Amino acid sequence: MFNKTFNFVALLAVFGVIIFQFKDEIKNKIFPLAPCTEPIPYVLNNFDERFKISKEYFLSALVEAEAIWEVPHGKELFTYSPENTVSDTLKINLIYDYRQEATSKLASLGIVAKDTRASYDSLNAKFTVLKNEYEREKNVYSLQVEFFNQKQKTYEEQVEYWNGIGGAQQKEYLELGATRDILEVESKELQKKQNRINAMVDEINAFVVVLNRLATTLNISVKKYNTIGASRGESFEEGVYSSDGFNREIDIYEFSSKIKLVRVLAHELGHALGLEHVDDPKAIMYELNQGNTEKLTFTDLEALKVKCGVEKKL
Ligand SMILES: [Zn+2]
Repeated sequence: MFNKTFNFVALLAVFGVIIFQFKDEIKNKIFPLAPCTEPIPYVLNNFDERFKISKEYFLSALVEAEAIWEVPHGKELFTYSPENTVSDTLKINLIYDYRQEATSKLASLGIVAKDTRASYDSLNAKFTVLKNEYEREKNVYSLQVEFFNQKQKTYEEQVEYWNGIGGAQQKEYLELGATRDILEVESKELQKKQNRINAMVDEINAFVVVLNRLATTLNISVKKYNTIGASRGESFEEGVYSSDGFNREIDIYEFSSKIKLVRVLAHELGHALGLEHVDDPKAIMYELNQGNTEKLTFTDLEALKVKCGVEKKL
């Protein structure tokens, strides 16, 4: 009996030592994302220069996004740790793809879409004009190409005919030369037209991406437009938080202003704390980036309170 008890105590002691020695590892394995207990270290991982913003600008947006959670919580929840090599450091990526490209394209045309119905309608009107112009130009172009191909075919048949009988007479030779010169000029003109039409397609696709995003954000029930010659996913995500229990990352894809960037960062940081979406359109943790302030709503605050506790009232 004494032996058994002693063995049991000894075993407990051994376990105790093991658990104490590896407590950090064990804690990290069992609660890899243990929220709120200590600040989540984060680094800037991929930073695409095509956004044409500085790292300082992006980091300052991150600091503002952090504060949205930290001020009401009452202590640090995130900490920028560029030197940190801890395996569960939150990696933040700025990824340039068709989403930001569309926003930038419209900006280059002098159009900054706001998240309002009026902005959607105005954008939609411009889009319709552009789309009609494109259809018209494309039809004219198709006819011209058809006509050009016919002329080129006739020319090639004549060249073949004269070659077959040993060469053209001088008169026909000169005529064929003149036809060839005309065809060359026309071919160049058609190429220019094709380039113009391609540029229109790029613009149309940028409108489509932004219009679809606005339709989602504003909950406008319209049929989603399709881009020309490219297929895109239905949903428009400005950012994504992902975690496999060991690695966690935030990818940011699109923002049209600093406030929108801060909000999408705050939203994804909220996910990093373990918060889920809430059913409040103005909330940071709403599934869409609809609000326009750097403040938690009551619903956000309640979610934070449950997960991490709150020191201050809104
Ligand atoms: Zn989300």
